[in-house]
Amino acid sequence: MTRPTIALVDLTAIVENYLLAQSLSADGQCVAVIKANAYGHGLIAVAKALASVAPAFAVACLDEAQLLRAAAIDTPILLLEGTFADAELQRAAQLQCWVVVENENQLEAINRVNLVRPVKVWLKLDTGMHRLGLPPQRAQQAHRLLTNSANVEGEIVVMTHLASADEPNNNSNQQQISVFSQTVDALNAPLSIANSAALLAIPQSRSQWNRPGYMLYGGSPLSSTSCDTLGLKRAMTLKSSVISLRTIAAGERIGYSGKGSVQRPSIIATVAIGYGDGYPRGAGNGTPVLVRGQRAALIGTVSMDMICVDVTDLSGVAIGDEVVLWGAGLSVDEVAKYAGTVGYELLARMPARTPRQYIGC
Ligand SMILES: *Cc1c(COP(=O)(O)O)cnc(C)c1O
Repeated sequence: MTRPTIALVDLTAIVENYLLAQSLSADGQCVAVIKANAYGHGLIAVAKALASVAPAFAVACLDEAQLLRAAAIDTPILLLEGTFADAELQRAAQLQCWVVVENENQLEAINRVNLVRPVKVWLKLDTGMHRLGLPPQRAQQAHRLLTNSANVEGEIVVMTHLASADEPNNNSNQQQISVFSQTVDALNAPLSIANSAALLAIPQSRSQWNRPGYMLYGGSPLSSTSCDTLGLKRAMTLKSSVISLRTIAAGERIGYSGKGSVQRPSIIATVAIGYGDGYPRGAGNGTPVLVRGQRAALIGTVSMDMICVDVTDLSGVAIGDEVVLWGAGLSVDEVAKYAGTVGYELLARMPARTPRQYIGC
């Protein structure tokens, strides 16, 4: 038997989630954010599935764009952090990437470097998150500089990013949106504000270009609303099998450092998945796991290649039974809460060791 541990990825679900994002965008368009190996789902497979519906992709850096071009994907690619050196800017132009300009160095580079062909630019403004972006006072001048540059092609999109879109009622969202609209008022430019959370829950943030990422994979970016309520389809099912079973006496301890213990005679199933496969070591006793579709509780410390699950209350569990760690019936967002993190992290850091298997599209 080969190791049963796989991440099953439903490409049709990703396309349907994209179409939901698009439907929320009214007249606007969506760049599909596929950075970090398409949030762990596999960059090339996801890009190929989305290429027929998405007018543009967004990634974090040029290396990710290069992987897409090497796979013959010719959709425009937005570099969300722009470029970090002149040679990289030149390469971005050659690869027909769109570049974010968010600091003075990047602005200056666009004016100085002799590009082989002009690039499309997204000018990013810092409206309060204080991570990336030029200050709003610089907007008009920067916009004029870029408009007059022979290195810049087409309309300049003006963008910003919200710090607390996952809490739609947080006042900072409206403050940032209002700073942004005052700043761009005179520019007459296409705009971009919304990530997944904003697109789903802050209607005023929707504009000509939206930037959904996490929702494409079926995760909920809103802590108070589940993916099902939002109508999103979970793209990844992380699964494995029971590889060993034992009955232990009341009072016995389980796993490294004896971190799990039972109060009654118990049946413990060992499952072939661990932190080396992307299952979070931070998931503690009681984290839900689906064994043959039924909920059971993780017990003991997560090992590199295995976990233990208390299946005492499930009937007839056998070696070889399917175990789902997240996916249908158990969202990655729920597991992340038990692990003290967010589903974004669990997906984005899925290691290469776990084979991705694709269905759909
Ligand atoms: C990653 C990213 C997004 C996508 O965010 P989600 O919460 O995954 O939808 C959008 N915009 C920028 C600037 C990003 O870095």
